[in-house]
Amino acid sequence: MTQIQTILEKTKGTAAYEILAKMEATYQRIRDEQEKWYKATDFLCISGCGQCCENFEPDLFEYEALYMAAWLLENQYETALKVVEREFPFKRPTGCQFYNPKSPYHCSIYGGRPFVCRFFGACCSYSKTGEKVWKPCKFYPATALAAHEPPLEHRQYIGNEIVSALGAIPPAMSDFMRDTLSFDSENTELVRDILPSKIHWLLWIIDMNDNPQSPDTPAAA
Ligand code: SF4
Ligand code: SF4
Repeated sequence: MTQIQTILEKTKGTAAYEILAKMEATYQRIRDEQEKWYKATDFLCISGCGQCCENFEPDLFEYEALYMAAWLLENQYETALKVVEREFPFKRPTGCQFYNPKSPYHCSIYGGRPFVCRFFGACCSYSKTGEKVWKPCKFYPATALAAHEPPLEHRQYIGNEIVSALGAIPPAMSDFMRDTLSFDSENTELVRDILPSKIHWLLWIIDMNDNPQSPDTPAAA
């Protein structure tokens, strides 16, 4: 189910629509794969933890930023307008400006979060020889790992060893990014630097689609 219904409708026929539809389809595939993994494993993040984004701010590819912009315009319009003015909801000296320290769920833009955040705690990667590898998150308490059945450690697990330890191998972020970002630029920028211009650009596209004779000067993407 789409989380950016109105924005898709309002950008139909534009390049932005193509990008947003592709990103949405990829994010849905990630959700489907992770759901399968969560059904097969009992290894879950510690409830309310959120340490992975406490002092971290994601670097975004252009398409991830565009999806985040669309999600904000659809789901938190007032916040989106403030972000255009570089005013973020949680003013923190470092780390992600969407991290809510008071909420047990922490992320205030959960449906619009980028690739890296979708894979926190549920991701494998590939070794140099192409084998799937998995390592528990560095913040996962050693005592909780030891209490898992079978007991786990802070080390790398490879191939079938992951299946024995977790019940199944979690999806790899690179498998999803390769397809979707193959035609994106290779540059990334911090959320706070890239997001305002993407929201501005989307607002301009929506305005042009609604009012084709609009005299406004186009904003740069
Ligand atoms: S977007 Fe959400 S999940 Fe990602 S770092 Fe920010 S608060 Fe954390
Ligand atoms: S990935 Fe690690 S730091 Fe993030 S919520 Fe899970 S256990 Fe906590």
